[in-house]
Amino acid sequence: VIEIGTPDRSVVTTCAYCGVGCSFKAEMRGDELVRMTPYKHGKANRGHSCVKGRFAYGYAAHKDRILNPMIRDSIEEPWREVSWEEAIGFAATRMRGIQEQYGKKSIGVITSSRCTNEETYLVQKMARAVFGNNNTDTCARVCHSPTGYGLGQTYGTSAGTQDFDSVEDTDVVVVIGANPTDGHPVFASRLKKRLRAGAKLIVVDPRRIDLVKSPHIESAHHLALRPGTNVAVVTAMAHVIVTEGLYDEEFIRTRCDWEEFQDYVEFVAEERHAPEAVEMLTGVPAQELREAARLYATGGNGAIYYGLGVTEHSQGSTTVIGIANLAMLTGNIGRRGVGVNPLRGQNNVQGSCDMGSFPHELPGYRHVSGSEVREVFESLWNVKLDHEPGLRIPNMLDAAVDGTFKGLYCQGEDILQSDPDTKHVAAGLAAMECVIVQDLFLNETANYAHVFLPGSTFLEKDGTFTNAERRINRVRRVMAPKNGYADWEVTQLLANAMGGGWTYTHPAQIMAEVAATTPSFANVSYELLEEKGSVQWPCNDASPEGTPLMHIDGFVRGRGRFIRTEYVATDEKTGPRFPLLLTTGRILSQYNVGAQTRRTENSRWHEEDVLEIHPHDAEVRGVRDGDYVRLASRSGDTSLRALITDRVSPGVVYTTFHHPTTQANVITTDFSDWATNCPEYKVTAVQVSPSNGP
Ligand code: SF4
Repeated sequence: VIEIGTPDRSVVTTCAYCGVGCSFKAEMRGDELVRMTPYKHGKANRGHSCVKGRFAYGYAAHKDRILNPMIRDSIEEPWREVSWEEAIGFAATRMRGIQEQYGKKSIGVITSSRCTNEETYLVQKMARAVFGNNNTDTCARVCHSPTGYGLGQTYGTSAGTQDFDSVEDTDVVVVIGANPTDGHPVFASRLKKRLRAGAKLIVVDPRRIDLVKSPHIESAHHLALRPGTNVAVVTAMAHVIVTEGLYDEEFIRTRCDWEEFQDYVEFVAEERHAPEAVEMLTGVPAQELREAARLYATGGNGAIYYGLGVTEHSQGSTTVIGIANLAMLTGNIGRRGVGVNPLRGQNNVQGSCDMGSFPHELPGYRHVSGSEVREVFESLWNVKLDHEPGLRIPNMLDAAVDGTFKGLYCQGEDILQSDPDTKHVAAGLAAMECVIVQDLFLNETANYAHVFLPGSTFLEKDGTFTNAERRINRVRRVMAPKNGYADWEVTQLLANAMGGGWTYTHPAQIMAEVAATTPSFANVSYELLEEKGSVQWPCNDASPEGTPLMHIDGFVRGRGRFIRTEYVATDEKTGPRFPLLLTTGRILSQYNVGAQTRRTENSRWHEEDVLEIHPHDAEVRGVRDGDYVRLASRSGDTSLRALITDRVSPGVVYTTFHHPTTQANVITTDFSDWATNCPEYKVTAVQVSPSNGP
């Protein structure tokens, strides 16, 4: 069904789905994409792929794609198809008008982790250099912003410490709040290969994920914690390592701040952090937790891989800090086989953060308050930059409801479907006077837009994505943009209509500007990427061909910092009305809210999201397998079918969020991470009851 002819040429490019960043040959016949073949020289995938990258590219040619710009005066009116010139002129006039009436800081941008580094760089540049403010944020706000904070505070930079190859030297694999089999399948294969060869496995997850029940993995320790208690589990592991004298004193003395370590020891050694003391809270038997901590500390090279089950919590940043503490305690940093590795969900989460999408950081994670850093950009961009951090996405929406934020340029992101508290997002969008949505399809956010600018797919543009191991991979144009322009060109049109004066003719020039302004990218160029295939940042004079392993001789910030990790219970509580805890995740064939994968052959493998419920919880509610159930929380309710399974523990239910009818974010709360506002998607108190269906 998929392979429809014999190709006559091929172009090597990068998968646009998850953060593994697999390389593919896009095989063409004329202007038609015949098939995607995993590229055997791809450094992240070595000729392997999953069903998303291999088969789920059909969305690029799907009939739902919007190829012509559209505008409307108000969101009550129907869309009018117009020329690019009219759409850009309309958008620019409105945005400038808003600034004249409400002030420079009344508009902002949202960048996308689906777009290229070059596109993201331009969008944040538009906010800073053209709008004149730091109101730029990224969809990474709702996934890995706690990684940015936690690893930044402890190690000095927001990035995974290892390359994927490093797993081949790992003796103890710790997977926390991630399900690589479904979320990062090609890396999961490498992980399983290592486990089959004898490495030990510790999984910290409320759900019995595939890794735990794989028949060939006999040694799995599964800490099936209660959702929301990550910090207590991680701190209890540290308690065992400290009180049983299993820490690596030499590493800590030579590499970390000793005074902070002593303070940390005093904290974690308290009896209230012992596994026995937190057993009731976490639901993890104390002995199992002790054995896991001992294994990680003494089992040889220990590597931690984690995902959104760590970050999407009210204490997401604290857990990231706790994980960083564990690695420093045991000396598991700075060589092959060890490290702390966030598994990035989207193809360019790493890159969108690297490129300065956050409102407090210029490209390369440098705070906007630093005058020396600002001067680098000011002299190149010929503007004066704002020194105050701008608004995060939730703050933009709050300000919109308050009437002080009026205009938004949102590239490649459907905030109405993917951000928490759907009603509040809708209210914020509805209160704005100019919402510009740039996307492939008329998404949910576009219901509140005044301008729709058609987006381009990864097949239609040049650029780069940066994967979870900091690897900068080339994205190569396979076909001309069906909508007329690559996304970076659209941003340039809008910027210039607002006085930007930009003259880029190819993304290579944008990368050259990134290299000129960002020390960790100083040696990155398209020429180097052609020569090497890909490189991992930092890539500069100190490391001209890139850096597979970070923090080898010292941390980026100098000495590693131990920081106390006090457990604070989430404000989301179970009770008689909502006695169960809902947590969420992905399945292999689908991707995020399904905008792309549902429009491909992959839709045959997933027609609807289901609710996993333990047999006991189903029985007491009179729910049978396959029945429709009503899933209700304090925020809202939805209806979906039940799947009775012991993958989840009693008291916990689980669903995916790939289908728009599921409306998972109608259910979730508006609680968020204390440091970064990353929403607490992974803990929601719910009730489940029989239902007649949607
Ligand atoms: Fe694409 Fe990720 Fe699958 Fe690789 S593992 S093919 S990057 S979705």
